[in-house]
Amino acid sequence: MKYTQEQLTSACMTWRHDFGMLPADERAGIERQMAQVLEHLPEPAAPLSMSAYQSLAQRTANRSLVFDTRLAVAALGLIGEAAEVSEHVKKYLGHGHELDRSKVLSELGDLGWYLAELASIFDADLGAVAEANIAKLRVRYKDGFSEEASRNRPSGNGG
Ligand SMILES: [Mg+2]
Repeated sequence: MKYTQEQLTSACMTWRHDFGMLPADERAGIERQMAQVLEHLPEPAAPLSMSAYQSLAQRTANRSLVFDTRLAVAALGLIGEAAEVSEHVKKYLGHGHELDRSKVLSELGDLGWYLAELASIFDADLGAVAEANIAKLRVRYKDGFSEEASRNRPSGNGG
């Protein structure tokens, strides 16, 4: 079976919201049917690594720009896309709009493009940038986030 029991149960619960409350024999029947459906689906794609994303994103980078211009465009683009994310949140919190998850996620993707572009401008691998960030956070928050750790973080540990 390509899918774990947990994934199978999750799929069943998506299919029938009352799945967990059904009699055992009815649940078993639904699970058998759902397992047959899942078996015919293609293998789930592996998530795109940050390094692979960076390579793919670079296909659409404007490499004709001089260094300073490319740097400025990337930095401004990063701010612009972050503003687009915050605009959705502002409209949700302040203007009574629906919070459109798909639009926010799309803007996060745009933000990612500029992250990848900035890393590329500095000849850095985005995956390595992410790993360095995680290493920094492991020092800052040894036991996960706490307000105390935030207040007393080691000096010289970046922004
Ligand atoms: Mg955008």
